[in-house]
Amino acid sequence: MPLVKPTPENIAAAAEALRLGELVAFPTETVYGLGADATNSRAVARVFEAKGRPRFNPLIAHVADLASAERIAYFPPHAHKLAEAFWPGPLTLVLRRRPTGKISDFVTVGLETVAVRVPAHPVASALLAAAAIPIAAPSANRSGHVSPTLASHVYDDLGDLPAFILDGGPTAHGLESTILDASEPDVVQLRAGALDLEATERVLGTRIRRAAEAVDPATGERPIAPGQLASHYAPGAPLRLDATDLRPGEALLALGPDVPRHAGPTINLSPTGDLVEAGANLFAALRALDAAHPTAIAVMPIPDTGIGEAINDRLRRGAAPR
Ligand code: AMP
Ligand code: MG
Repeated sequence: MPLVKPTPENIAAAAEALRLGELVAFPTETVYGLGADATNSRAVARVFEAKGRPRFNPLIAHVADLASAERIAYFPPHAHKLAEAFWPGPLTLVLRRRPTGKISDFVTVGLETVAVRVPAHPVASALLAAAAIPIAAPSANRSGHVSPTLASHVYDDLGDLPAFILDGGPTAHGLESTILDASEPDVVQLRAGALDLEATERVLGTRIRRAAEAVDPATGERPIAPGQLASHYAPGAPLRLDATDLRPGEALLALGPDVPRHAGPTINLSPTGDLVEAGANLFAALRALDAAHPTAIAVMPIPDTGIGEAINDRLRRGAAPR
């Protein structure tokens, strides 16, 4: 059983396992990550294998601090500003990679850019400091499935594949990081996530375009956001979005004080309608409702403001045809 408490001894042993090319699952403030030495192609290949992740879907390199990130990628002034303001935290920056950065091509899937983040979680920070290597870490779930927000979710999906699963309790945000392509002055959001886009816009003093708005009108080219697959974050049961009524056999994922009457399994993401709380509860609620084997999970409408943008993104992908 790889599930252990994140004691200093266990963190040291997990760091050693990482340095030896093994996989370690660890908590971050977003979701649990499945880590491997980002400079070791064989270790990184194991991550893709364990998750069943498509090989064209690049990984995020996690590092202890901005100085470590600067050894991997070039930071133009606006990217520096974002890192100073939000790291450690749930913001991933896609930047041009330094040829001397030692990051495996398996992490970047051969792109000229690399995604980097400094996570804000005491266990993740201690692990990164002890291992003293960049750690490539996607969410610690089977590819396409709901992301893990508890150590037990990781074990349910991956079993004994990680050498260690460091149990840090429930993750604070419960949604993946916000991803910004900051390689050019015209910053583009590639993925909505735990960091509210408005906060980053305030720091930059400009509006940040969403990937969908950044399509080049001349060529029709979209910004590169590989891995943002239509079907993802999917529980076993189908999701029915914007539900205002209930059908027989359905489970209900509710939000706010006005919930339709329902005899079946029901979870309210936030009885007060708080979207940050709803985001933190989303993935665990999907797993729990799924476990009741409903005909479908009916999801009440979620406002598309603030963190609601990231919640709706995950729900749309969860509901997409598989
Ligand atoms: P995950 O590890 O599952 O949270 O996903 C990481 C996501 O980061 C990928 O699916 C990509 O969409 C994005 N990403 C990682 N590296 C790059 C990159 N070099 N360029 C653009 N997007 C990236
Ligand atoms: Mg993932």
